[in-house]
Amino acid sequence: MTTNHDLFTRALGVIPGGVDSPVRAYGSVGGDPRFIAEAFGARITDVEGRSYVDLVASWGPALLGHAHPEVVSAVREAASRGLSFGAPTLGEVELAEAICDRVPPAQRVRLVSTGTEATMTAVRLARGATGRDLVVKFAGCYHGHVDSLLAEAGSGVATFGLPGSAGVPAASAAQTIVLPYNDLAALEAVFAERGEEIACVITEAAPANMGVVPPAAGFNAGLHRLTSEHGALLILDEVLTGFRVGPSGWWGHESGTESWMPDLMTFGKVVGGGMPLAAVAGRTELMELLAPTGPVYQAGTLSGNPLATAAGLATLRLADARVYAHIDQVAATIAGATGEALTAAGVPHVVNHAGNLFSVFFGEQAATAGVHDYAGATAQESWRYPAFFHAMLESGVALPPSVYEAWFLTAAHDEDAVGAILDALPGAARAAAAA
Ligand code: PMP
Repeated sequence: MTTNHDLFTRALGVIPGGVDSPVRAYGSVGGDPRFIAEAFGARITDVEGRSYVDLVASWGPALLGHAHPEVVSAVREAASRGLSFGAPTLGEVELAEAICDRVPPAQRVRLVSTGTEATMTAVRLARGATGRDLVVKFAGCYHGHVDSLLAEAGSGVATFGLPGSAGVPAASAAQTIVLPYNDLAALEAVFAERGEEIACVITEAAPANMGVVPPAAGFNAGLHRLTSEHGALLILDEVLTGFRVGPSGWWGHESGTESWMPDLMTFGKVVGGGMPLAAVAGRTELMELLAPTGPVYQAGTLSGNPLATAAGLATLRLADARVYAHIDQVAATIAGATGEALTAAGVPHVVNHAGNLFSVFFGEQAATAGVHDYAGATAQESWRYPAFFHAMLESGVALPPSVYEAWFLTAAHDEDAVGAILDALPGAARAAAAA
C-alpha cells in the first residue's frame, strides 16, 4: 500500500515543500499531509484508505459536499462535448447571468480561473478607472498571491508567520497601504492625507483568512462612504464568502439593500463548484473598461472553461434555501459544541462567527477582549492548535491544518458526519488543554 508518508517523500523530491499550495502542508501542525484518493459527500479518504469527516471542503468550494452526483454528471456531460474551445460558450453566458441575478452589484461579469486573477484584475480595473495607483488593504485579509496584495496577508502567509513575500518589488509594495481591520478612523486618516492618490480599498467581505473576523456593524458601509467621498473604488472580495454565506454572498447577508454597494466584486470557490473558475464583477461602466471594450487588458486561455462553468452552474442551481438553512444550522451546532468542549476542558477561547463561517481563537486575551483584527488574531495561543488538530484527525475528522482558517461545512454534513465531529471534540479540547 502507498502511504501518505511515502507519497509525501516522493512529492518532496519533485514539488517544493511537497505541495502545490502552501496551505496544504502540515507546516504549522506537523506531520505528513494526507494525500486524498477520493471524496464523497462530507467525507474524504486518503491513499491509506482512512476516511475522515472533512471540514476543509476544498477550502470552500464544496458547498454541496464532494462529488455531488448532479454536479459530476454536468461536468461529465460537458466533457463529452469537448474540454476547451477558446471561443465563447452558452455556459459562460448562463453562469454570468446566474451571478448577476443573485448579486445585484454584479451588473457585468468576467470569468477567470482563480481568485488571484479576479482580485488582480479588479485592482487593475480600479487603477485604470481612477488613474490612481495606491491600493488600501487590511492586515490579515488574503486576496490571493497578487504582488500588491501580499503585504500582511492572511491564509498561508499568516500560517507561516511571514510579513509578506520575497520577490515583490519595493516599488510595488510602496503602492500598497496596509491598515488594521475594523478601524474606520485609520482609513479616514489615510484618505485625509493621500485621498487623491488612492485607487481603491479592497476588503474581504467578511474576513476568514486570519480566522473568522467579522466586520463590525457599519464597517463595510463606512468603507463605501469613504471611498465614494474620495473618488476611490470599493472592491469587495467575496471569493470565500460568495454563494457560501448565502445566495447573494456576504453583501446580501449583511445589507440586502442598495444602501451600500461595492463598485467591484470578486468571486471564486463555490462559483466554480470545485473546478478552476472565479469571477470579477461590478458596475457596468467600470466593467466595460475591460478589453475588448476598454483599455484595461485582461485575458485567459482557459477563462470560462466549459467544464468549470458546468460545475459552477449546477452548484448554484442546487444551492437553494434548504442548502443554506442546513449549512447555517450544522455550523451553529459545531461551533456551539466546540465552544462547550473547550470550556469543559478549561481552555480559554472565543469562537468568532460570520454567517455560517466560524473559527476558534485560543487564549485568555482572545476570550476576554475578543478578536477584531489581525493583531488580536495573531496574539492568540496558536500553539494549542496542533494538539487539537491531531486529536481530531486521529478521531477521523479533518480540520484545516492551520488555526488561521475557517471550518467549512457543506450540505452533505448529515447527522452521521455531525455526530462524528461532536464525538471527537471533547478529546481534542482536552488535548488542547494539555498542550
Ligand atoms: N480572496 C479570498 C478572500 C480568498 O479566500 C482566496 C483564496 N483562499 C483568494 C482571494 C485567492 O483565490 P485563489 O486561491 O483561487 O487564487
